[in-house]
Amino acid sequence: MLVVDDALFLEHRARDPHPERPERLLAARRAIECLRSRVTIDALGARDASDDELGRVHTPAYLEGLGRWAGKSGMLDADTFVSPQSVAAARRAAGGAVALAEALWRGTARTGVAVVRPPGHHALPDRAMGFCLLNNVAVAAAHARALGAERVAILDWDVHHGNGTEDMFYADPSVLYVSLHQAPYYPGTGAASDIGSGEGRGYTVNLPLSAGARDAVYLAAFERVIGPVLEAYRPSLMLVSAGFDAHERDPLGGMALTDLGFAALSRRLLGVLPEHCGVGLVLEGGYDLAGLESALGASLGALDSALEQPGTQSTPDVETEHVGALHSSEIQRAISALGSSWQLG
Ligand SMILES: [Zn+2]
Repeated sequence: MLVVDDALFLEHRARDPHPERPERLLAARRAIECLRSRVTIDALGARDASDDELGRVHTPAYLEGLGRWAGKSGMLDADTFVSPQSVAAARRAAGGAVALAEALWRGTARTGVAVVRPPGHHALPDRAMGFCLLNNVAVAAAHARALGAERVAILDWDVHHGNGTEDMFYADPSVLYVSLHQAPYYPGTGAASDIGSGEGRGYTVNLPLSAGARDAVYLAAFERVIGPVLEAYRPSLMLVSAGFDAHERDPLGGMALTDLGFAALSRRLLGVLPEHCGVGLVLEGGYDLAGLESALGASLGALDSALEQPGTQSTPDVETEHVGALHSSEIQRAISALGSSWQLG
């Protein structure tokens, strides 16, 4: 398993207490250290994303404007801060995701994780937003496409909708964007009826779920919608916008996913991908340090054991019965919205 990390990711820090804090990265590192006894971990160096790589999804004007914040502190919106090293960290974070995507696409390994800060999935082509400066996973997906990957899929299980990523690929069938998110909630996008436009119609899959969704709800959404769509799409590279703020311990999110739920999602994800398709997790949110550590560890452990010992499980499976009427109807709404694009039961 490849791990991308960099000392710069600790240097992005808010002046006042903020949930998106360097300690999150230390928690992620602890999770990876814990895995070392049973998983072969190979460090993969991050590099800075180039202007050309960033320019595939961000506008030149935005990149120029962001560059002017280098060495300074301030707020880009009500909750998105920059510190003197933030622009450098953001470039390195996007470059780290790029390095991971490239290595997975070339077959260096089947699985990997980029533990990056700042996160990325709210960053729009022309604007920072929601703690995010550059859209790491989108830059990585666009890079894989440029290398020749025909179809890149992004599964975004962060509790928030990845409005930036959706926006960047909304009309593009070569990047499938699938999001599970709490709704109504920040940033307010991600309706089930938003399924892409033009040639990209059907290649955006939104599963907005009311607060309180437990493991069984996420697993049902995977089994009824996400799994069948990914099996039909047959991605050449799989990226995960891996936020852990849908964890039951998270202070921002209102969902109730457990470590076992994250493990089960990871295991199922590997199970629906083509044989040689690499899977790379790119860290997004997750604001309870213990929850972030345990859920990231469970996800990576499940990916590794699903790969090494298909058919066996490192963790017990979750209860998949008892999806309540409200969440069932929300999953059904997504199925109805996508009915003309995918064959979903
Ligand atoms: Zn989030």
